[in-house]
This record gives sequence, structure tokens and C-alpha cells, in this order.
Amino acid sequence: MIIAVDGPAGAGKSTVARIIAQKLGFLYIDTGAMYRAITLKSLEKNIGAADEAKLIEMARSTDIGLVNSADGPLKIFLDGRDASRLIREPRITRLVSDIAKIRGIREIMLGLQRKLGRQRDSVLDGRDIGTVVFPDADRKFFIDADFKERVRRRHKELIEAGQGVSEKDVEEDLRNRDKIDSTREFAPLKKAEDAIRVDTTNLTIDEVVEKVLSYING
Ligand code: C5P
Repeated sequence: MIIAVDGPAGAGKSTVARIIAQKLGFLYIDTGAMYRAITLKSLEKNIGAADEAKLIEMARSTDIGLVNSADGPLKIFLDGRDASRLIREPRITRLVSDIAKIRGIREIMLGLQRKLGRQRDSVLDGRDIGTVVFPDADRKFFIDADFKERVRRRHKELIEAGQGVSEKDVEEDLRNRDKIDSTREFAPLKKAEDAIRVDTTNLTIDEVVEKVLSYING
């Protein structure tokens, strides 16, 4: 079974997708983390977002591994080393949407995501899972929340993770990524027609999980 969970940053998508996967015993595939890993490598190799050919060549020879643990967060391995923390740094967040809009990069990630998802029952979270990666997914959700609430949540999350960013910076980042992600030519962020929209603005994580599970089991 494939469960697609799409939506913008800060809507609670990853948290919900991870919990649902744990509860169902499914593999959790965080596709945003994969784009982040490619972005990290591009910075390390000093390849700019404009140098598409080089980036695509780099991505082709990159090994990205996802390791699920029983109750902790997902671990991301980039060419064999644990990059789980590095990919969450602000320098990655600032750049990732510019890398993720490149068609050749998306094609490579798409192949990898389909391969991973076909191995076993999976929950995938991202922007284009229900529209492009798995248009035939068994269940599709579009997790959304008011912009202000998304900013508040992402800011809180970053502060708790020890990243001293201002709310204004978070607001700018979300506005910028929303715009690039939803207006890009290839696989833009958008709700699949047959996805169930869940507005999480006034819901707790537990309530969202309960709602999503009831749709999955229903
Ligand atoms: O989910 P997260 O916010 O970590 O994703 C980081 C970025 O990766 C997004 O802003 C988007 O540019 C890109 N992304 C994407 N397609 C996906 C998942 C993420 O383009 N399926």
C-alpha cells in the first residue's frame, strides 16, 4: 500500500506521515530530506544552482539512504555518512527549492522514490507524491494550515532544535519556498484532485493522526 502525504512546509506533514508509518508498520520516506541531501552535497562540491548539468551529473552518482528507527526520527545517509542534522541547517533550507525545481534532479529523485516505495508498504511525504511520484497511491492526503500558523510552528520547531532564527526570517523562508515550489514548471506543489485535504490549523498532532488514520481504515 502507498500513502501519499503532500503539502507546504510547516503544516505538520512530516510529523503526521512519520507517526502514521510507525503506527501501520510502514516504511516512512521523507522525500524533502532527499532534496535536502542533494542540496548539501552541491554546497560541499561548490556547484551553484545555475550549473544544472553538473548538478545532475553529481546527483546521478550520489547515494541517498533512509533509515527508519522504531520510534526516533528518520536518519538520512549521504554517500554513506549520516547527514540527518546537516540537511536541516538554514543554508540548506534557503537553497533547496532552487535545486528541487531542476527537472533532471527531479527525475533522478523520482526514480529513487518509486524504487523505495515499491519495496514495501510505505508512507511518502513531499510536494508531488500524489500528483507525480505515485499518482495511483492507495490513499492521498494534502495537509495544509494557515500561513501564520505554519510560520509559528516552524519557528517553534527551529528554536527547539537550537537554531536561533527570528520569526521574520522563517516567514520569509516559507513565503519564498511556497512560491518557488508552487510555481515551478515540473511537479509543482499542488493538491491532487483525489487527495483528501486536511486543514491542521486548529488541530493537535494527535487529532490530525486520528483523522488521517480514520480515512485510511475507512
Ligand atoms: O519537506 P521539506 O520542507 O524538508 O522539503 C524541502 C524542499 O524540498 C521543499 O521546499 C521543496 O522545494 C523540495 N521538495 C520537492 N518535492 C518533494 C519534497 C520536497 O520539491 N516531493
